[in-house]
Order: sequence, then C-alpha cells, then structure tokens
Amino acid sequence: MVEKISHIGIAVTSLEAQIPFYRDVLGLEFLGLETVEDQKVKTAMFKVGDTRIELLEPTAEDSPIAKFLEKRGQGIHHIAYQVDDCRKAVQRMEATGVQMIDKEPRRGAGGHTIAFAHPKYTFGILTELTQEH
Ligand code: ZN
Repeated sequence: MVEKISHIGIAVTSLEAQIPFYRDVLGLEFLGLETVEDQKVKTAMFKVGDTRIELLEPTAEDSPIAKFLEKRGQGIHHIAYQVDDCRKAVQRMEATGVQMIDKEPRRGAGGHTIAFAHPKYTFGILTELTQEH
C-alpha cells in the first residue's frame, strides 16, 4: 500500500523568509511555488532524494494552515505517504477505525490525488495519503 514518504509538510508564516534556508543553506533543489486555492495555501516544494519537503504558507486567515500556526506555531504539519491507490488506502484506513478528514480523495498540490486522516486517529500526526500516478 505505502510506497515511500512522498513529502513532509511544514507550516510556515513566510515562504520568502524560509526558502533561502532550504535552497541555499541545505542546498535542496527548489521545485517551485504553487497556490492551492481551496486550501487557501501557497506551497514551496523542494526535492530531497526521491522525496520532498513542502513548505505551507496560509493565504487567508481562515486557512487550515493559519489555524495550525495559531495553535502550534511553525513546524512540521503533516507527513504524506505515497500510496498506489488513494481510494483503496482510504477504505483500508476507515475499515480499521481511522476517521478521515477527506472521505473522498481530492486534488492536492501538483495535481495529485490526496486524502488526510484525522490526527486524533493517527496519534497526533496529521497523515496524508497521496497518489502521484
Ligand atoms: Zn502535503
């Protein structure tokens, strides 16, 4: 089911302030910026081997990332696992009693099919399932 870690999502107050650290200090390949309108978030992606770091900056006060920053501050927001079939992975999670935030997989950054599980059911770690192909 899980093939690898797709990416680690990090909530930030300013992409502009943090991009130089990942690009210039760590020397990661910068893959680009993307705004995901329905999540009210702007992302910056970096390549780390065959996985990625995803910085998430809110674009509105009612963005889920804005709420996270308010409550927890900047830091790791979620871990995304790459799965071969997102719909099946969601069904499997639900069958074991894990409640999903996204009961139906939806479109995420990069045009991938994604679904989030509720952190209450994943021991406090917001967990994303992502299908990239
Ligand atoms: Zn993500």
